[in-house]
Amino acid sequence: MTIETTQTPNFIRAIIEEDLASGKHKTVITRFPPEPNGYLHIGHAKSICINFGLAGDFGGRCHLRFDDTNPAKEEVEYAESIKESVRWLGFDWGEHLYYASDYFEQLYQWGEQLVRQGDAYVDDLSADEIRAYRGTLTETGKESPYRNRSADENLELFRRMRAGEFPDGSRVLRAKIDMSSPNLNLRDPVMYRILHAPHPHAGEKWCIYPMYDYAHGQSDSIEGITHSICTLEFEDHRPLYDWFLDRLGIYPPRQYEFARLNLTYTVMSKRKLLQLVQDGDVRGWDDPRMPTLVGLRRRGYTPDAIRSFCERIGVGRSDSWIDMSILEESVREDLNERAPRAMAVLRPLKLVIDNYPEDLVEEFTVANHPQKPEAGSRTIPFCREVWIETDDFLEEPPKGFHRLAPGQEVRLRYAYIVRCTGVVRDGAGNVIEVRCSYDPDTHTGGPAAGRKVKGVIHWVSALHAIEAEVRLYDRLFTEPNPAGDEWKSFVNLHSVEILTSCRLEPSLKEAAPESRYQFERQGYFCVDAKDSTPGKPVFNRTVTLRDSWAKLDKGDQGNSKA
Ligand code: ATP
Ligand code: MG
Repeated sequence: MTIETTQTPNFIRAIIEEDLASGKHKTVITRFPPEPNGYLHIGHAKSICINFGLAGDFGGRCHLRFDDTNPAKEEVEYAESIKESVRWLGFDWGEHLYYASDYFEQLYQWGEQLVRQGDAYVDDLSADEIRAYRGTLTETGKESPYRNRSADENLELFRRMRAGEFPDGSRVLRAKIDMSSPNLNLRDPVMYRILHAPHPHAGEKWCIYPMYDYAHGQSDSIEGITHSICTLEFEDHRPLYDWFLDRLGIYPPRQYEFARLNLTYTVMSKRKLLQLVQDGDVRGWDDPRMPTLVGLRRRGYTPDAIRSFCERIGVGRSDSWIDMSILEESVREDLNERAPRAMAVLRPLKLVIDNYPEDLVEEFTVANHPQKPEAGSRTIPFCREVWIETDDFLEEPPKGFHRLAPGQEVRLRYAYIVRCTGVVRDGAGNVIEVRCSYDPDTHTGGPAAGRKVKGVIHWVSALHAIEAEVRLYDRLFTEPNPAGDEWKSFVNLHSVEILTSCRLEPSLKEAAPESRYQFERQGYFCVDAKDSTPGKPVFNRTVTLRDSWAKLDKGDQGNSKA
């Protein structure tokens, strides 16, 4: 498994430039053709960015087309979510929303045409028999005994198929191509099957449904698609795509294939994602651990971050794996720019400043973003008791530990330098409170403001803190490539850690759903849109501050010094 980290160019862009320069096409029309049988994932985002992105760059347009030829697995819920995700990514199909099922009548008429031309026939073999007759890569196929029916007989049977006279699976319509072709896709592929089932978009009208290969190219042709861009596994289907268009004598778009996105530590097949949902490994399609766009959104990813990720990985023709850290780096870069800063203590330990006046509350004005004065400022309250991070204090610090320890000094960010004078223990001997004294001269503007200490830690006023739940996420799988039959055994059982008594600075109390923050020294966090209630936000960790995966053990993640 090679993992790519470098940028690759977009070879399809070069093809389009050439086609426009040579006059082959005057404009670019692409399409994004999801099957509404699941939620979109980050792999689809790559395809969306290619199709909408290229069309936009060349002043053309991109259609959103639901490839809804299989009513058994498709649902309106999925179609709605797909539309929302495409829009959320920042793309717009304008008036060009299409459904392959809207072309069913035309596709059927073309089916009759192929039957009349002798290019298609009704086959009575069962699905198993058809599979057995097809042969293998090393073994040529066998012709069906029904292959040489007359055009009239085929036409009558095809019409009766449509009329609902036959049960599911009893007959199919097949293209009559070549049972000895080295390309299995050309060994008389099935065009229509009988399925007495309503369709989520077309309703009760049909009991025969076209196969993907028969519907796709013709849908492209109807819509005048210039560049039909799909993933590499369709390369071997291209001769069939071209064959149908050629036999029908209709406008032929050209198909181009690119390498699909594979991302480490996750899975991308909708079948597998559905299984994770159904087995309860995750809490739904929009679980923040899922590689779905709804999941990434809930996790705190921005559309910009996902688009810039897609830009970075380029568009090539060789299968490769992209390391999850590249996706994480994209969101980190984006959030570093846009996320306001805040202080949050995830695992709180009480710190009491003995020489600080009992009922004094000071308010410090601090910048929301260190490099962006235009992001404004806010005030944070300070008092005698504050929460600090449990692991910012060590009774027996190793050499080089610059945070708090008995006798040691540390700066409370934006506030004062404090020195640890003692601890309070519970009955079991655990430290439950750290006692300190502070140096009143060390605040900004004070006579000793510039005094340097080695460590700076964050804190939240105990009197003013809000209590909140924060969810920390880890990778969904323990293996970079969770493939094979045992893929489920690689599910990371510790992919979420829920902290229920975090203490947040009070400005976060009314944080809006989906708003994103950098919690200083911790990482980037996003208000969960589902589980938060007014005044009681729940936060999801989007990503740690730096790529701690390679270097640090898990316990230390996100606690590197800011
Ligand atoms: P799955 O195999 O998970 O069901 P799919 O390819 O069948 O996925 P579709 O809804 O048919 O899903 O995909 C819509 C478009 O998105 C297709 O053009 C497909 O090639 C593209 N696509 C799907 N997965 C990826 C991926 N991992 N990387 C890039 N493009 C993808
Ligand atoms: Mg598909």
